[in-house]
Amino acid sequence: MSIEKPVFSKVAIHTYTNKPWNLQECIDRYSRAGVAAMSVWRNLIDPAEGGIGIDEAAKRVRDSGLAVPALVRGGFFSRPTVEERQEAIDLNRRYVDEAAALGAEMVVLVVGAVPGLELAEARKQVKDGIAAVADHAREAGVKLAIEPLHPMYAADKSCVNRMAEAREICEDLQHPAVGIAADVYHIWWDPDVESELRRAAEQNTLFGFHICDWRVNTRHLLTDRGLMGDGCIHVAKFRRLVHSLGFEGYHEIEIFNEEYWAMDQNEYLELILRREEACR
Ligand code: ZN
Repeated sequence: MSIEKPVFSKVAIHTYTNKPWNLQECIDRYSRAGVAAMSVWRNLIDPAEGGIGIDEAAKRVRDSGLAVPALVRGGFFSRPTVEERQEAIDLNRRYVDEAAALGAEMVVLVVGAVPGLELAEARKQVKDGIAAVADHAREAGVKLAIEPLHPMYAADKSCVNRMAEAREICEDLQHPAVGIAADVYHIWWDPDVESELRRAAEQNTLFGFHICDWRVNTRHLLTDRGLMGDGCIHVAKFRRLVHSLGFEGYHEIEIFNEEYWAMDQNEYLELILRREEACR
């Protein structure tokens, strides 16, 4: 399907993309560069990780006028014991409250996996965990976005690896607060990706859309994500596809990369925005 002039004015950056910056630096630099939105990672909030606490973070974010598509990240519902699974549910309810305080649309869920636990059982734990948080999310006006992760993370980070597994949870729960965050890094290789994106759009479960690139000869499983144009993903094609499907949310730039973190972050931000323009 061809779209004559795609409009991607809704571009957001995940704060972890500019990991060396604190929350205020992200706010100031993104605002100055004309970026309208940012998805906030919890390391900038949680005092245990050096963050400034949710009250101060929420005040600064709201004062900034920046939109916040997502708080990143919650999830990890699959755990070895009942007690730990309940702990995950309680934590995610807190993340929902934090998202509401920030004015974030959604909490992105990296759903979890336990090495050695059968994936089907892990997915059941995930579904039960999300079900236990969903009403709280709806009451708070926050969505829960299941993010399928590339199968290289199936053992320990996510038992949901394709759009289809995320869809099945959405279909089972039939809850208006539960949907999907589609990240091209994780799903570009899936032969069903286009039809699944279409189904998600039809089912009103396409909540989030993340862009970056897959470096051929990936050097690290976590921290070698490419900037758009560095790798082999047809990012522009995905952007046009979700646009044609009626997706009106932000195109969220989410990159973790040691080389880029070592750069001058102001120069890196300029590069990010040039690459974003080049993949429209
Ligand atoms: Zn993502």
